[in-house]
Amino acid sequence: VALSGNQIREKFLQFFESKGHKRLPSASLIPEDPTVLLTIAGMLPFKPVFMGKQAAPAPRATTSQKCVRTNDIENVGRTARHHTFFEMLGNFSFGDYFKREAIAWAWELVTVVYALPADRLWVSVYEDDGEAFGLWQEVAGLPPHRIRKMGAESNFWESGPTGPCGPCSEIYYDFHPERGEVEIDLDDDSRFLEIYNLVFMQLNRDSQGNLSELPRKNIDTGLGLERMAQVLQGVPNNYETDLLLPIIARAAELAGKDYFQLSEADKVSFKIVGDHTRAVVHLIADGVKPGNEGREYVLRRLVRRLVRRGRQAGIAGAFTQKTAAVAIDLMGGAYPNLIERRSAIMTMLGNEEAAFLRTLENGEKLLADILGRSRGTVSGEDAFTLFDTYGFPLELTIEAAAERGLAVDLKEYEAKMQEQRERAKRAAKTTDLTGGVDLTGVPATEFVGYQGLTAQARVLGILN
Ligand code: ATP
Ligand code: MG
Ligand code: MG
Ligand code: MG
Repeated sequence: VALSGNQIREKFLQFFESKGHKRLPSASLIPEDPTVLLTIAGMLPFKPVFMGKQAAPAPRATTSQKCVRTNDIENVGRTARHHTFFEMLGNFSFGDYFKREAIAWAWELVTVVYALPADRLWVSVYEDDGEAFGLWQEVAGLPPHRIRKMGAESNFWESGPTGPCGPCSEIYYDFHPERGEVEIDLDDDSRFLEIYNLVFMQLNRDSQGNLSELPRKNIDTGLGLERMAQVLQGVPNNYETDLLLPIIARAAELAGKDYFQLSEADKVSFKIVGDHTRAVVHLIADGVKPGNEGREYVLRRLVRRLVRRGRQAGIAGAFTQKTAAVAIDLMGGAYPNLIERRSAIMTMLGNEEAAFLRTLENGEKLLADILGRSRGTVSGEDAFTLFDTYGFPLELTIEAAAERGLAVDLKEYEAKMQEQRERAKRAAKTTDLTGGVDLTGVPATEFVGYQGLTAQARVLGILN
């Protein structure tokens, strides 16, 4: 029988413990680094160590790190491999071992511990990294044509304009070896899946842009737990692994449907429900509250998408506590704070869902009318009415419109918003004379809220 997700995680950590790594717990999704909204990779908690600002916790460490990547939100349910919330397994060297060991152990892990057949594996290296190109042949016995040289965009890692950086090398799984070994494109995700990324942090870039060798070289790696589970469990996507499927199955049950009988298009909503349920329970467990800014807004947006997708999937009424209960049971063993915070998670989720359901119910009928009569573009005026009168968030209108191939006239929307603000200002002046009572019903914060919303939507890649 195939390894479970929990076993895959445990085997990774045990393997690197056997290679002298200290097992450390996952850091919070709320990073200490104030420049990053959420923990997006296993290396993030160690950034101060790599930057030489903090002592290493041990020469070698291994973790399973909770990550949230909002930049992948549009891929969720659409590609087989992307989530917002996922677990990144990692092994790290802080000035200790380097490229040879990192490559040798990565190879041993995937071919011996996980027992993947060597002839299903391909790797990429940075085009100028002749050392890695040689090591993959020497240490792993890979033939040269299976080691693809790639450019800086995908295979050179840096975390900013200055600081430590270096080439990386990725391991890919081949689902279709029968397609042959010519005209290989590792970015073709109908055939290949990136599972493991090794970063060889060997250079430092100074403020003039000059690169110099780091005196102490580091290793930073990331292996996607859900992706490894997809491969080892022989399922067509991460969603159908034992890490997510029970949540999806519960949602399908609530909708009175059999997930496996659905068309691929109809499965998307269920996949999003599975993904977002995991993300929101972890975000709340780590102390994020729903709100209108920063990571609080990320959480709010995820809850709203979750609720809306549940409705689209055919679930009537509030349901998020039910899918959350499955997610907490699934992951509580590996992440005990989910169990400790269970009641807080349930309360917060239930309240946020209830508030949003009221908004949705008010706006959805009008939205359907608007989408039905719009040709090519939803007018800014309609989008504005939805927001202003029904509290229906702009980004939902944009998303619902996009699902029907429609754009939203954001220029006109902004113009309406501007008019609104002018009106509010004039009204505020008038009311000042009458004793500072705001009679407009349009608080001055409304527009600020919208600006925040737009900025967030941009961050989330909804607006450009
Ligand atoms: P991709 O090219 O598939 O988007 P990536 O190159 O952006 O992946 P890395 O930043 O190298 O990913 O992260 C290290 C590993 O974490 C990846 O090799 C993959 O296994 C996993 N991973 C990255 N992003 C996601 C995601 N959104 N969902 C699930 N796993 C992910
Ligand atoms: Mg990516
Ligand atoms: Mg990649
Ligand atoms: Mg990568």
